[in-house]
Amino acid sequence: MLSNELSFSLINAANVLSGLLSKNFVGSVADFERFDSCLHGIPILIPADPELFEFENEDVFSIAPDRILKTVFGLNDPFYIGMRHAFNRFDFLAKFSVRPKYASFVDEVVQQNCNATNFIKSLQKKYDNIGAFQTRNIPHLGHEAIIQRMLDFCDHLVVNPVLGPKKNGDVTVECLSSVFKRFAEKKYKNSISFKPIVANMFYAGPREAVHHALIRQKMGFQHFTVGRDHAGAQKAYLPDAAVRLIKKISNNLKINVVCHDGAVFCAACDDVVLAGDCNHDHAEYRDISGTAFRASIVKKEIFLLADKEMQTLLFNSKIKIFET
Ligand SMILES: [Zn+2]
Repeated sequence: MLSNELSFSLINAANVLSGLLSKNFVGSVADFERFDSCLHGIPILIPADPELFEFENEDVFSIAPDRILKTVFGLNDPFYIGMRHAFNRFDFLAKFSVRPKYASFVDEVVQQNCNATNFIKSLQKKYDNIGAFQTRNIPHLGHEAIIQRMLDFCDHLVVNPVLGPKKNGDVTVECLSSVFKRFAEKKYKNSISFKPIVANMFYAGPREAVHHALIRQKMGFQHFTVGRDHAGAQKAYLPDAAVRLIKKISNNLKINVVCHDGAVFCAACDDVVLAGDCNHDHAEYRDISGTAFRASIVKKEIFLLADKEMQTLLFNSKIKIFET
Protein backbone atom coordinates (compact mmCIF):
# COMPACT_ATOMS: atom_id res chain seq x y z
CA MET A 1 0.00 0.00 0.00
CA LEU A 2 1.24 3.47 -0.91
CA SER A 3 1.32 6.13 1.80
CA ASN A 4 -1.35 8.84 1.62
CA GLU A 5 1.26 11.42 0.71
CA LEU A 6 2.50 9.40 -2.27
CA SER A 7 -1.02 8.50 -3.42
CA PHE A 8 -2.05 12.16 -3.17
CA SER A 9 0.83 13.31 -5.41
CA LEU A 10 0.20 10.53 -7.94
CA ILE A 11 -3.54 11.26 -8.11
CA ASN A 12 -2.70 14.91 -8.85
CA ALA A 13 -0.24 13.83 -11.53
CA ALA A 14 -2.82 11.47 -13.06
CA ASN A 15 -5.45 14.25 -13.12
CA VAL A 16 -3.00 16.56 -14.93
CA LEU A 17 -1.97 13.86 -17.42
CA SER A 18 -5.53 12.74 -18.17
CA GLY A 19 -6.67 16.28 -18.97
CA LEU A 20 -9.24 16.44 -16.14
CA LEU A 21 -7.16 19.04 -14.29
CA SER A 22 -4.56 19.93 -16.93
CA LYS A 23 -5.66 23.59 -16.83
CA ASN A 24 -5.06 23.62 -13.07
CA PHE A 25 -1.45 22.50 -13.37
CA VAL A 26 0.99 25.13 -12.13
CA GLY A 27 4.34 25.05 -13.94
CA SER A 28 6.02 28.16 -12.53
CA VAL A 29 5.85 30.77 -9.78
CA ALA A 30 4.29 33.26 -12.21
CA ASP A 31 1.71 30.66 -13.23
CA PHE A 32 0.61 30.38 -9.60
CA GLU A 33 -0.60 34.01 -9.72
CA ARG A 34 -3.57 32.99 -11.87
CA PHE A 35 -4.97 31.43 -8.73
CA ASP A 36 -5.23 34.76 -6.95
CA SER A 37 -8.68 34.48 -8.51
CA CYS A 38 -10.75 31.59 -7.21
CA LEU A 39 -12.39 31.20 -10.63
CA HIS A 40 -9.74 28.67 -11.64
CA GLY A 41 -10.43 26.36 -8.71
CA ILE A 42 -7.55 24.64 -6.95
CA PRO A 43 -3.99 24.92 -8.33
CA ILE A 44 -2.40 21.53 -8.90
CA LEU A 45 1.25 21.55 -7.88
CA ILE A 46 3.38 18.46 -8.43
CA PRO A 47 5.97 18.09 -5.66
CA ALA A 48 9.62 17.53 -6.61
CA ASP A 49 9.62 14.09 -5.03
CA PRO A 50 12.42 11.97 -6.51
CA GLU A 51 10.72 8.80 -5.29
CA LEU A 52 7.79 9.38 -7.65
CA PHE A 53 9.02 11.51 -10.51
CA GLU A 54 11.93 11.83 -12.90
CA PHE A 55 13.00 15.43 -13.40
CA GLU A 56 15.90 17.82 -14.00
CA ASN A 57 16.99 20.30 -11.33
CA GLU A 58 16.25 23.17 -13.68
CA ASP A 59 12.58 22.12 -13.67
CA VAL A 60 12.20 22.72 -9.94
CA PHE A 61 10.63 25.89 -8.53
CA SER A 62 9.54 26.84 -5.01
CA ILE A 63 6.52 28.55 -3.52
CA ALA A 64 6.52 29.61 0.12
CA PRO A 65 4.14 27.79 2.48
CA ASP A 66 2.42 30.97 3.68
CA ARG A 67 1.65 31.97 0.11
CA ILE A 68 0.07 28.59 -0.60
CA LEU A 69 -1.89 28.76 2.65
CA LYS A 70 -3.25 32.19 1.77
CA THR A 71 -3.99 31.53 -1.91
CA VAL A 72 -5.38 28.00 -1.79
CA PHE A 73 -7.09 28.03 1.59
CA GLY A 74 -7.55 31.75 2.26
CA LEU A 75 -6.31 31.09 5.79
CA ASN A 76 -3.43 32.04 8.09
CA ASP A 77 -3.22 28.96 10.31
CA PRO A 78 -0.18 26.90 9.18
CA PHE A 79 -1.54 23.90 11.11
CA TYR A 80 -4.81 23.81 9.19
CA ILE A 81 -5.49 20.17 8.34
CA GLY A 82 -6.05 20.88 4.64
CA MET A 83 -2.60 22.43 4.36
CA ARG A 84 -0.88 19.55 6.14
CA HIS A 85 -2.87 17.03 4.13
CA ALA A 86 -2.13 18.52 0.70
CA PHE A 87 1.28 20.19 0.99
CA ASN A 88 4.26 18.56 2.63
CA ARG A 89 6.98 19.91 0.36
CA PHE A 90 7.32 23.29 -1.26
CA ASP A 91 9.53 22.49 -4.23
CA PHE A 92 7.46 21.78 -7.33
CA LEU A 93 7.94 20.56 -10.87
CA ALA A 94 7.53 22.55 -14.08
CA LYS A 95 7.43 19.23 -15.95
CA PHE A 96 7.53 15.68 -14.78
CA SER A 97 7.40 12.07 -15.75
CA VAL A 98 6.15 9.40 -13.40
CA ARG A 99 8.67 6.72 -12.48
CA PRO A 100 7.84 3.37 -14.12
CA LYS A 101 7.31 1.80 -10.70
CA TYR A 102 4.20 3.99 -10.23
CA ALA A 103 2.91 4.00 -13.80
CA SER A 104 0.24 1.39 -13.14
CA PHE A 105 -1.20 3.38 -10.23
CA VAL A 106 -1.43 6.48 -12.41
CA ASP A 107 -2.91 4.52 -15.34
CA GLU A 108 -5.60 3.12 -13.10
CA VAL A 109 -6.68 6.60 -11.95
CA VAL A 110 -6.71 7.82 -15.57
CA GLN A 111 -8.79 4.79 -16.61
CA GLN A 112 -11.31 5.19 -13.79
CA ASN A 113 -11.89 8.84 -14.66
CA CYS A 114 -12.05 8.05 -18.36
CA ASN A 115 -14.71 5.49 -17.52
CA ALA A 116 -16.67 8.09 -15.52
CA THR A 117 -16.44 10.66 -18.33
CA ASN A 118 -17.58 8.07 -20.89
CA PHE A 119 -20.48 7.22 -18.62
CA ILE A 120 -21.58 10.88 -18.62
CA LYS A 121 -21.22 10.95 -22.42
CA SER A 122 -23.51 7.93 -22.66
CA LEU A 123 -26.07 9.67 -20.42
CA GLN A 124 -25.93 12.75 -22.68
CA LYS A 125 -27.46 10.66 -25.48
CA LYS A 126 -30.52 10.09 -23.32
CA TYR A 127 -30.81 13.19 -21.14
CA ASP A 128 -30.50 16.96 -21.55
CA ASN A 129 -30.09 17.80 -17.89
CA ILE A 130 -27.63 15.68 -15.97
CA GLY A 131 -26.71 16.57 -12.41
CA ALA A 132 -23.90 15.58 -10.08
CA PHE A 133 -24.34 15.16 -6.34
CA GLN A 134 -21.11 14.82 -4.42
CA THR A 135 -21.37 12.68 -1.34
CA ARG A 136 -19.38 9.80 -0.04
CA ASN A 137 -21.73 8.99 2.80
CA ILE A 138 -24.36 6.33 3.24
CA PRO A 139 -27.45 8.44 2.54
CA HIS A 140 -29.80 9.54 5.31
CA LEU A 141 -33.07 11.32 4.60
CA GLY A 142 -31.20 14.63 4.39
CA HIS A 143 -29.18 13.34 1.43
CA GLU A 144 -32.41 12.08 -0.09
CA ALA A 145 -33.99 15.54 0.26
CA ILE A 146 -31.04 16.94 -1.72
CA ILE A 147 -31.44 14.18 -4.34
CA GLN A 148 -35.12 15.10 -4.68
CA ARG A 149 -34.28 18.79 -5.07
CA MET A 150 -31.75 17.97 -7.77
CA LEU A 151 -34.33 15.86 -9.59
CA ASP A 152 -36.46 19.03 -9.88
CA PHE A 153 -33.66 20.36 -12.12
CA CYS A 154 -32.28 17.19 -13.70
CA ASP A 155 -33.69 14.32 -15.68
CA HIS A 156 -30.84 12.21 -14.37
CA LEU A 157 -28.68 12.59 -11.28
CA VAL A 158 -25.30 10.95 -10.77
CA VAL A 159 -24.18 10.38 -7.20
CA ASN A 160 -20.61 11.35 -7.88
CA PRO A 161 -18.22 11.14 -4.93
CA VAL A 162 -14.66 12.37 -5.17
CA LEU A 163 -12.34 9.57 -4.14
CA GLY A 164 -8.82 10.33 -2.99
CA PRO A 165 -6.39 8.09 -1.11
CA LYS A 166 -8.25 5.55 1.04
CA LYS A 167 -8.60 6.52 4.72
CA ASN A 168 -9.61 4.35 7.66
CA GLY A 169 -13.24 5.02 8.49
CA ASP A 170 -14.27 6.04 4.94
CA VAL A 171 -17.34 4.26 3.66
CA THR A 172 -16.14 1.68 1.11
CA VAL A 173 -16.95 2.29 -2.55
CA GLU A 174 -18.44 -1.20 -2.69
CA CYS A 175 -20.92 -0.26 0.04
CA LEU A 176 -21.85 3.09 -1.56
CA SER A 177 -22.24 1.49 -4.95
CA SER A 178 -24.51 -1.22 -3.60
CA VAL A 179 -26.68 1.20 -1.60
CA PHE A 180 -27.18 3.71 -4.43
CA LYS A 181 -27.68 1.03 -7.09
CA ARG A 182 -30.48 -0.46 -5.04
CA PHE A 183 -31.97 3.00 -4.46
CA ALA A 184 -31.83 3.64 -8.20
CA GLU A 185 -33.79 0.50 -8.96
CA LYS A 186 -36.23 0.32 -6.07
CA LYS A 187 -36.87 3.92 -5.16
CA TYR A 188 -35.83 6.31 -7.93
CA LYS A 189 -36.99 4.56 -11.14
CA ASN A 190 -33.42 4.64 -12.44
CA SER A 191 -33.36 8.44 -12.44
CA ILE A 192 -30.16 8.24 -10.37
CA SER A 193 -26.92 6.33 -10.78
CA PHE A 194 -23.63 6.01 -8.94
CA LYS A 195 -20.27 6.81 -10.49
CA PRO A 196 -17.25 8.03 -8.50
CA ILE A 197 -14.34 10.08 -9.81
CA VAL A 198 -10.78 9.93 -8.52
CA ALA A 199 -9.34 13.28 -7.43
CA ASN A 200 -7.96 14.74 -4.23
CA MET A 201 -9.90 16.61 -1.59
CA PHE A 202 -8.05 19.67 -0.25
CA TYR A 203 -10.47 20.88 2.46
CA ALA A 204 -10.23 24.31 0.86
CA GLY A 205 -13.86 25.24 1.56
CA PRO A 206 -15.46 27.80 -0.80
CA ARG A 207 -12.64 27.70 -3.36
CA GLU A 208 -12.94 23.95 -3.49
CA ALA A 209 -16.69 24.23 -4.10
CA VAL A 210 -15.83 26.24 -7.23
CA HIS A 211 -13.21 23.62 -8.12
CA HIS A 212 -15.76 20.82 -7.78
CA ALA A 213 -18.25 22.68 -9.95
CA LEU A 214 -15.56 23.21 -12.62
CA ILE A 215 -14.66 19.51 -12.60
CA ARG A 216 -18.32 18.62 -13.22
CA GLN A 217 -18.58 21.28 -15.93
CA LYS A 218 -15.58 19.72 -17.65
CA MET A 219 -17.07 16.23 -17.33
CA GLY A 220 -20.25 17.28 -19.12
CA PHE A 221 -22.74 17.80 -16.30
CA GLN A 222 -25.34 20.60 -16.53
CA HIS A 223 -26.04 20.81 -12.79
CA PHE A 224 -24.14 20.46 -9.55
CA THR A 225 -25.12 21.12 -5.96
CA VAL A 226 -23.41 22.89 -3.09
CA GLY A 227 -24.77 23.10 0.43
CA ARG A 228 -23.44 23.86 3.87
CA ASP A 229 -19.83 23.26 4.89
CA HIS A 230 -18.73 22.22 1.43
CA ALA A 231 -15.19 20.80 1.62
CA GLY A 232 -14.23 22.57 4.84
CA ALA A 233 -12.72 21.13 8.00
CA GLN A 234 -12.05 22.19 11.58
CA LYS A 235 -14.75 24.90 11.26
CA ALA A 236 -12.24 27.00 9.32
CA TYR A 237 -14.97 28.41 7.06
CA LEU A 238 -18.44 29.74 7.83
CA PRO A 239 -21.08 27.11 6.99
CA ASP A 240 -22.56 29.25 4.20
CA ALA A 241 -19.23 30.50 2.78
CA ALA A 242 -19.24 28.09 -0.17
CA VAL A 243 -22.81 28.92 -1.17
CA ARG A 244 -22.10 32.66 -0.94
CA LEU A 245 -19.03 32.40 -3.15
CA ILE A 246 -20.81 30.22 -5.71
CA LYS A 247 -23.71 32.68 -5.92
CA LYS A 248 -21.26 35.56 -6.35
CA ILE A 249 -19.40 33.97 -9.27
CA SER A 250 -22.24 31.99 -10.87
CA ASN A 251 -22.16 34.16 -14.03
CA ASN A 252 -18.63 32.90 -14.67
CA LEU A 253 -19.67 29.25 -14.59
CA LYS A 254 -21.13 27.28 -17.47
CA ILE A 255 -22.70 24.82 -15.07
CA ASN A 256 -25.79 25.56 -12.96
CA VAL A 257 -25.04 25.16 -9.26
CA VAL A 258 -28.10 24.43 -7.16
CA CYS A 259 -27.40 25.93 -3.74
CA HIS A 260 -29.19 24.96 -0.56
CA ASP A 261 -28.84 25.64 3.17
CA GLY A 262 -28.69 22.01 4.21
CA ALA A 263 -31.27 19.40 5.04
CA VAL A 264 -32.83 19.40 8.52
CA PHE A 265 -35.53 17.61 10.46
CA CYS A 266 -38.40 20.09 11.00
CA ALA A 267 -40.32 19.18 14.15
CA ALA A 268 -43.39 21.14 12.99
CA CYS A 269 -43.45 19.36 9.60
CA ASP A 270 -42.43 16.12 11.35
CA ASP A 271 -40.33 15.54 8.24
CA VAL A 272 -36.94 16.12 6.69
CA VAL A 273 -36.85 19.28 4.57
CA LEU A 274 -34.26 21.55 3.00
CA ALA A 275 -33.86 24.52 5.35
CA GLY A 276 -36.15 27.35 4.26
CA ASP A 277 -38.47 25.12 2.20
CA CYS A 278 -41.21 25.12 4.82
CA ASN A 279 -42.58 28.21 6.52
CA HIS A 280 -41.75 27.13 10.05
CA ASP A 281 -39.50 28.94 12.44
CA HIS A 282 -35.89 27.75 12.43
CA ALA A 283 -36.33 26.91 16.12
CA GLU A 284 -38.27 23.86 14.84
CA TYR A 285 -35.24 22.64 12.92
CA ARG A 286 -33.02 19.84 14.21
CA ASP A 287 -29.72 18.81 12.68
CA ILE A 288 -29.53 15.35 11.18
CA SER A 289 -26.38 14.13 12.82
CA GLY A 290 -24.01 12.31 10.48
CA THR A 291 -22.01 11.27 13.54
CA ALA A 292 -25.06 9.70 15.21
CA PHE A 293 -26.01 7.96 11.95
CA ARG A 294 -22.54 6.53 11.66
CA ALA A 295 -22.57 5.35 15.29
CA SER A 296 -25.85 3.52 14.75
CA ILE A 297 -24.50 1.86 11.58
CA VAL A 298 -21.52 0.61 13.57
CA LYS A 299 -23.90 -0.83 16.19
CA LYS A 300 -26.25 -2.16 13.46
CA GLU A 301 -29.12 -0.20 14.94
CA ILE A 302 -31.77 1.37 12.72
CA PHE A 303 -31.40 5.16 12.48
CA LEU A 304 -34.82 6.78 12.28
CA LEU A 305 -33.87 9.47 9.77
CA ALA A 306 -32.61 7.07 7.10
CA ASP A 307 -34.27 4.54 4.81
CA LYS A 308 -35.12 1.54 6.97
CA GLU A 309 -35.06 -1.09 4.24
CA MET A 310 -31.64 0.10 3.10
CA GLN A 311 -30.26 -0.24 6.62
CA THR A 312 -31.80 -3.67 7.19
CA LEU A 313 -30.30 -4.95 3.94
CA LEU A 314 -26.96 -3.43 4.75
CA PHE A 315 -26.83 -4.93 8.23
CA ASN A 316 -27.73 -8.36 6.87
CA SER A 317 -25.28 -8.24 3.98
CA LYS A 318 -21.62 -9.24 4.03
CA ILE A 319 -20.53 -5.97 2.45
CA LYS A 320 -17.66 -4.25 4.19
CA ILE A 321 -19.06 -0.87 5.25
CA PHE A 322 -15.99 1.05 6.44
CA GLU A 323 -12.37 1.00 5.34
CA THR A 324 -10.14 -0.43 8.05
ZN1 LIG B 1 -41.43 22.77 8.73
